[in-house]
Amino acid sequence: MPSASVFSALDSSLPGITVLTRSSPSYPGRRKIRCQDEALAKIEPPAIAVPKSGEEVSSVVHWCMSNGVRFTVRDGGNDYFGRTVVEGALVIDTRDITYLHVAADRKTATVGAGFLMKDPATFGGYGPMQHSLGLGIDQTVGLEIVTAKGDVVNFGEEDMRLDGLRGTGGNHGVIVSLKIKVCPNFNLLTGILIYDSRDFNKTIRDYNDAAYLGKFIAATPLLKVNRVASKGLTEYYASMPPDRNTPWGGMRTQYFAKMTRELTDVVVASLVTMPTDPMVNLSWTGDVPINPEVNHCIGVGPSHVFLSASFFVSDVRNKEAADSWTSEMFEAARKAGAGGMCEAAHPGLTPLGEDPRGAVGVQDGQGNGIEG
Ligand SMILES: Cc1cc2nc3c(=O)[nH]c(=O)nc-3n(C[C@H](O)[C@H](O)[C@H](O)COP(=O)(O)OP(=O)(O)OC[C@H]3O[C@@H](n4cnc5c(N)ncnc54)[C@H](O)[C@@H]3O)c2cc1C
Repeated sequence: MPSASVFSALDSSLPGITVLTRSSPSYPGRRKIRCQDEALAKIEPPAIAVPKSGEEVSSVVHWCMSNGVRFTVRDGGNDYFGRTVVEGALVIDTRDITYLHVAADRKTATVGAGFLMKDPATFGGYGPMQHSLGLGIDQTVGLEIVTAKGDVVNFGEEDMRLDGLRGTGGNHGVIVSLKIKVCPNFNLLTGILIYDSRDFNKTIRDYNDAAYLGKFIAATPLLKVNRVASKGLTEYYASMPPDRNTPWGGMRTQYFAKMTRELTDVVVASLVTMPTDPMVNLSWTGDVPINPEVNHCIGVGPSHVFLSASFFVSDVRNKEAADSWTSEMFEAARKAGAGGMCEAAHPGLTPLGEDPRGAVGVQDGQGNGIEG
């Protein structure tokens, strides 16, 4: 690990770039991340660099490489496993790269890595427009990254290397900006529905089979509360409940080809044994269509279902029970859906220590040609 004196020279080595050390007044605020795991909470990165452009990111990476300093990259800081903070490593905080340029033809826009939505975690790769427009990676038609050597590299739509970057998060470099497709605003059917739980299995099955929310509401009689309405995207984001960021959390996910009856049964059965403390968000996506014209390295097939269970407990003593509950639920789901499991994983949501193979373009050693 580099000595403390290496960091004392940091400010003068990177003129014009904001660099915070442990004694800087804004350090605690910048250091804060969502995950409050006990071990992580004790880690105080030696420095947090806050670049505003690709050139500034490049200077920070060059400085780290020439001084033998490891670094991590953080944006929204929502990672369930706190992967943005590592003992002894400098943090490159990309939240101040906030530009937005809409192209003259208004078909694409270039957005800085730090251009965050109201809650970036909630509208990540999977989001409210997934059935109409596809995943977040389907919208990405260009990327600017800084490689591990400190080079600023741009990948356009025709560049095959973009395929390898779509779906791998930041594993190939520091993402500085994305060029994304622009779509017209449209309305969504969205809101809370409360059903009588006496025949919950049937309700869930009907919901799953209906495919369209309006059709489900019209056909299923057990409704107790219906606050579903047609909302524009801005109205939808504004209506989201405030984020309940209770301290201790965890997450499990699995991709399946279809939400079969056997899988639905597992999900419904798991509700009976759900522990009492956690706020659990149990969800599956419905069939997410994949645009066959967009190449990326997530092996999910032409359409898929993304089953996820996340939890936040208010008391750390309840974390183990909640973790065992999600673990058992997923074990049962994997057994029930064994024939239709996809060889893929959400790179950002694979727990530490679990095998992420299949997530990121590891088909028969095909590299993506990115150097560095
Ligand atoms: C409550 C909650 C709800 C969620 N809901 C959804 C959902 O609906 N759909 C969905 O798809 N996902 C969802 N997620 C997962 C979320 O999309 C991922 O955790 C995502 O990585 C969060 O982005 P972030 O910028 O906050 O990540 P950070 O915690 O800042 O970073 C995550 C990872 O990306 C790396 N990284 C960050 N910025 C860069 C960069 N500029 N260049 C290179 N690497 C970088 C970090 O090093 C780290 O490994 C949810 C997560 C939470 C906590």
